Amino acid sequence: MSRPSAKAARLAPKWRELAEARSAEKGERLTPARLAVYAELLACDRPLSAYELIALLERRQERKIAPLTVYRHLDFLMRIGVVHRLQSAHSYLPCDHPDHPHDSQFLLCSSCGHVDEVESRGIETMLSELADERGFRPDHTVVEIKGVCGTCAGSVPD
Ligand SMILES: [Zn+2]
Ligand SMILES: [Zn+2]
Repeated sequence: MSRPSAKAARLAPKWRELAEARSAEKGERLTPARLAVYAELLACDRPLSAYELIALLERRQERKIAPLTVYRHLDFLMRIGVVHRLQSAHSYLPCDHPDHPHDSQFLLCSSCGHVDEVESRGIETMLSELADERGFRPDHTVVEIKGVCGTCAGSVPD
């Protein structure tokens, strides 16, 4: 495996600006350490567990990093809405569209590990009606669908 460069993972200006805007909205500060965690997640094409993330950061920064620190950075990134946690896979992925707060639904491919984030008004409405009918007040909704993605299933039209 090739060694990641000692510099922080490259972060496209677009993502950096979005993260800065969301931090400012919440009155929080986007520190270099927080940014480094975000950049690492964006550089990867699949969700990462906290331990995979720590290993990547340690290799890149050539020093030991306390897991608690990384969990705190992840909490921050979720709080400002630029990172989501997959409950079923215990892993984290950057949000596709962090420009507005939202509930997401996720399609998890068990073959290639790819995760598609989708945002469906229809599903949200349906679930909130379902809860309403029972007088239930949801505070957090998780919709994660496991299966095989279109590419892996060979169903992508060419
Ligand atoms: Zn999202
Ligand atoms: Zn797949």
